[in-house]
Amino acid sequence: MIYIDKDTKTVLPEKYHVAHNLCVQIYDMMLELHTNEIFNELYKSDFSFKIDENLKKVKEFTNKDIHALDWLAENGKHDILEKILCKRLLTSITGDLLNFLHEGLSCSMRGITNVAYANFRKPLKDSLTLLEMILVDPTDFTKTYFLNGDPNNYDPSSKNLNKEEIIEKALNKLGNKPLLNKEIIHILRFDKTNSNSFDPLSNLALHIVTRDRNYKTEDRNLNFIFSSKEDVEKQWEHIYFFMPYLMAYTFWIVDEILFSLVDLNKEIKEYRDLRVLLKFMYWACKHDKFNGSEQILSTLGKGGNCENCGAELDLGIHDLKLHFDTDLLPCVKCFHSLINFPEGYEPEFMSMKFNEDDFKKDE
Ligand SMILES: [Zn+2]
Repeated sequence: MIYIDKDTKTVLPEKYHVAHNLCVQIYDMMLELHTNEIFNELYKSDFSFKIDENLKKVKEFTNKDIHALDWLAENGKHDILEKILCKRLLTSITGDLLNFLHEGLSCSMRGITNVAYANFRKPLKDSLTLLEMILVDPTDFTKTYFLNGDPNNYDPSSKNLNKEEIIEKALNKLGNKPLLNKEIIHILRFDKTNSNSFDPLSNLALHIVTRDRNYKTEDRNLNFIFSSKEDVEKQWEHIYFFMPYLMAYTFWIVDEILFSLVDLNKEIKEYRDLRVLLKFMYWACKHDKFNGSEQILSTLGKGGNCENCGAELDLGIHDLKLHFDTDLLPCVKCFHSLINFPEGYEPEFMSMKFNEDDFKKDE
């Protein structure tokens, strides 16, 4: 378990618990692609068309002598090929990315920040770039990755790729997301000179000696080996100020691809959006470095009226906290949920069956 609750023993100072748990909750929402049945469509693909004399290698295909994707390519069925391939890539890349993020967050809460940085490198730099490329142009990616197949042309770490342009195009695909900014996302992941970037820190974590002029190992030193308590403090501060932002961005990229591949109620996507945004807002309001909290709270405070009892809504930080902890946002007058949960995607809590005994205190 990497979620920190009141019984968790951890060396992570309490001031970082909300940021840590925000990262874990966003991680959990991405993990739902693999665990929630509602996304099962990601794991299967049906296609049908008439078999006629124009189709090649039908016998090989029915005898399973040729892979379905190769057969589709052979027959020029590129649209079907693209959808199946992108589903496969999305589940596999996110699976790998989530494993690394989980390890990173687990190491961080145990104070092993050097290993945390090493674990954050691949998902933030490479895996996320692959996902951005798929989101930006799935047809082109299918061509480069599958039909052409030369790894030099889809290597996410290639210097030939214009990362800033990829981020910009990915952001355009996401529409007008509050918070997200091309320069910030680029600096945090790729800038070798900026002290806020994860790039030099994760490189130092992975290599004993580095020669890059921006973070050259000093004489008689070894990277990260002699880290003091103060160094770990500084690293926590960095991780927990920027990781929630990068986690939210990663989540939105994953969800945008996900909902382009599965035929699901758009309300589910909107609700997942809102869920991350409300949790992010709670963290931001709690953070002393963040100066937009008053604006968030005043916008939230004018939340309209409860559709059940008509009471004027006056939401504040306590409502954000309740939502952060439980996914629930009830009207304080009548307890009616202010969020319309999409059918089949209600919070886990609501599908649990309670009876009177559950609320009785032990004698
Ligand atoms: Zn009400």
